This record gives sequence, structure tokens and C-alpha cells, in this order.
Amino acid sequence: MAVEETRSDEASREVRERARRFVAGARDLDEQSFLGAQFDAGLAWVHFPTGCGGLGQDPAYQSIVDAEVAAAGRAANWMRNPMGIGMVAPVLVEWGTSEQQRRLRSIFTAEDVWCQLFSEPGAGSDLAGLACRARADGDGWVVNGQKLWTTRAQVARYGFLLARTDPDVPKHRGLTTFVVDMRAHGVEVRPLRQMTGHSTFNEVFLSDVSIPDTFRVGPVGEGWRVALTTLANERNAIAADPASATEGPLGHLIAAWEASEGTNGVYRDAVVRLRSEMMVLGWMGQRQQHASDRSPGPDPALLKVMRATLNRRIADLALDLTGANGMLVPGYDGTIPRDDSVALTFLFGPAFTIAGGTTEILKTVIAERLLGLPAEPRVDKDLPWSSIPHGFDRPS
Ligand SMILES: Cc1cc2nc3c(=O)[nH]c(=O)nc-3n(C[C@H](O)[C@H](O)[C@H](O)COP(=O)(O)OP(=O)(O)OC[C@H]3O[C@@H](n4cnc5c(N)ncnc54)[C@H](O)[C@@H]3O)c2cc1C
Repeated sequence: MAVEETRSDEASREVRERARRFVAGARDLDEQSFLGAQFDAGLAWVHFPTGCGGLGQDPAYQSIVDAEVAAAGRAANWMRNPMGIGMVAPVLVEWGTSEQQRRLRSIFTAEDVWCQLFSEPGAGSDLAGLACRARADGDGWVVNGQKLWTTRAQVARYGFLLARTDPDVPKHRGLTTFVVDMRAHGVEVRPLRQMTGHSTFNEVFLSDVSIPDTFRVGPVGEGWRVALTTLANERNAIAADPASATEGPLGHLIAAWEASEGTNGVYRDAVVRLRSEMMVLGWMGQRQQHASDRSPGPDPALLKVMRATLNRRIADLALDLTGANGMLVPGYDGTIPRDDSVALTFLFGPAFTIAGGTTEILKTVIAERLLGLPAEPRVDKDLPWSSIPHGFDRPS
């Protein structure tokens, strides 16, 4: 135990010193070059292998690097490429070829933004039932189908696609994952308007899109296992997003409460309770992020359900505290609201309970895999996908 502690102390000291040396040497670099240099120094994801932006270290040490980078006044880059950084990068490390792993640098620097092409009109919760079809064609594949709710497809350079390569086996077994060049011939992105007024997600139509076999990620027919890695990382990323007391839902709640103190002192207990729950959840999220076993499991599902539910409770209370003013979006000019506000936080709340797996579905995951309760009946599990009635036209 004493030896272990000494080893980990030494390792964390080395990471801190390396991060300090890097930050000092990169002081004058612009944002993009700084991120590139951070990747080259193995400080992008310290737990990734050397050459992939990491040092093969314990993931817990990433917070040491992040703290040094933040102390140097550099903003966290996660939001510049959330799908790429939060989901695609760990999947490429686990499943990608060394050629595919060369994409990690431009993912970290956000030179290449990525989107996730999983959900379809007929397949969201039942993702394994999807219909988008990839057919082998010479040295590559030809893809036809429609994707839905694709966040950031309008700006993405690459998409991470889950498609059906064999319709004649049970649904989970006939899937394969691919990288899609979003500028390829046959890729059409149509924005969707959300109730907040924004258009952050889209419909994506894929018509005879050619994909080289070198863009396949993981073995043919193993797409479901690759997708599970992606989804666990997505839930991890949503749950671990640090809750700020000055921004986001909690920031709005605290600002609303401070503004109404005296008249609404009665809400103090509720505000403190929600803030405490968010802090606890933040720590649980950090623990999950730093866990050495980050393979797909039910824990991210638990965190994600808690986070989504808490966000809604916080937004509800913020709206109550703000009263009629909470309906207003400051600066709204009838087009796209640009300001974060209580109203937008409230309107966006339900999205968190759906994105990355709905609360109902994740509760089933928790019930079955964490609590060991009897499994839901799944009558189509062993049937060939092609023999299941789908109730929609599917590409033949
Ligand atoms: C903000 C946002 C961003 C998103 N971004 C992306 C993206 O970038 N890429 C992508 O691929 N997808 C994305 N999605 C899609 C998201 O993954 C799906 O919306 C989600 O998986 C639910 O699928 P669905 O919308 O088809 O709903 P459905 O699966 O049709 O579900 C409808 C309702 O039925 C319930 N339900 C369904 N099955 C069961 C069951 N067995 N037991 C109990 N209840 C059930 C659900 O919980 C839900 O309430 C995004 C969604 C949102 C809201």
C-alpha cells in the first residue's frame, strides 16, 4: 500500500511538472496551436496511449493537467467539439486502426468537428433496430438511409455512423460502425428547429454515399459493441460536465434566488438542497471520469439519469423564483435567441432527459444491470432483423 501511494505520488508529480513545463513553453501560442502542442505533449487525455495524445497514465491525473491549463487562462475545449472529444476519441482509441487514430489530434484541437449518426426516425431507444443500410461494394461500402437528431451535423467534418450491414441476422449482430466524410457526395443535412428557437440538430439523408473500407471502425458485425462504448462515453460526458454555480441551470437558479432574497427567503432550503445535490453529482461524475475501468457499464446511466432529472428540477425552481419575467428571453429579436436565460434553460431541460438515452430506458439499464431485477421481455432479440415488422419503409 505504502509503495503504491509513493508510486502514484511520484506519477502525479511528474504529470504536474510536465503540465507546468508545457504551459510555460506554450504561453504565446494561439488557441489552435496551444491545443495541438498539448496533444503532442501527451496532455490531451493522459490515459490514452503515447502518440494518441496521452501518456498511458491514470485518468485521474487529467484533472491535474486541466487545472494547470485553466490557471494559464486557457478555456476548456470540450464544447468546441463535444461529440468528437467526448465520444469519438475514446472509441477510436479502443476500436480504431492506427491510421484512424491519426485523426485524434484534429479532434482534440477541434479543427475537425464530429457528429454522431446513430438515431433514426424508427430507431432511437431501440437503436439496434435501425434501418440505415451499408452494402459491401468492391473495396468499400455504399450507404443509404436517414438519420435524425444529429447534433452539429451542420458544422461537422466527419460523422460517426452506425449502419446495418447484415439484415438477416438478429438486430444487434448485423451492425457495423463507419466514419463518414460529411462533405461526401450524397450526404444532405437539413436543420431542425427546436422549441428554444435554435437549430442545433438536424436530419441527415445518406443517398448512395461511398465509404472506403479503411473508414470502417471495428470488425464487420461488431457495430453494436462499438456503439455501446460510444454511448457509455456519451453518458459519461453529459454526467461529468462540471456544474458551475455561476452559469447554466444552477447559475440561473442562484442568480434568481439572490435577486429575490427577502421576498422569497422561503425557497432557501430548496435552493441549498439542489445546489448540494449538484455538487455531489459533480464529484460522482469526476470519480467516474477518473475511474481506471472506463469500459461501458451501467454507472454512466445512473449519473446521466440523476443529472437530467436534477437539471429539470433546478430549471423549474428558477422559473418559479423569477415569476412572469422568467418567460422572457433577454435580447430576443424574433429570430434565434442568442442569450442564455432562465426561459431557455427551462425549455432545454427536457432535451437532457432524452439525449444519450431517455430516462425511462436508462432506468431499465439500471434495474437490470445494477439492481439485478428481471429483464424486460425482448421478443425480437433472436429474430433476423429482416423478419421483424418495422412499420416504415426501409431501404432494401
Ligand atoms: C438534444 C438532443 C440531441 C441529440 N443528439 C443526437 C445525436 O447527435 N446523434 C444521434 O444519433 N441522436 C441524437 N439524439 C437522439 C436521441 O438519442 C434519441 O432521441 C433518444 O435515444 C430517444 O429516441 P427517440 O427520440 O426515437 O424516442 P423513442 O425511442 O421513440 O421513445 C419515445 C418515448 O417512449 C419511451 N420508451 C421507448 N421505449 C421504451 C421502453 N422499452 N420502456 C419504457 N419507455 C420506452 C421513451 O423513454 C420516450 O419517452 C439527440 C436527442 C436530443 C434530445
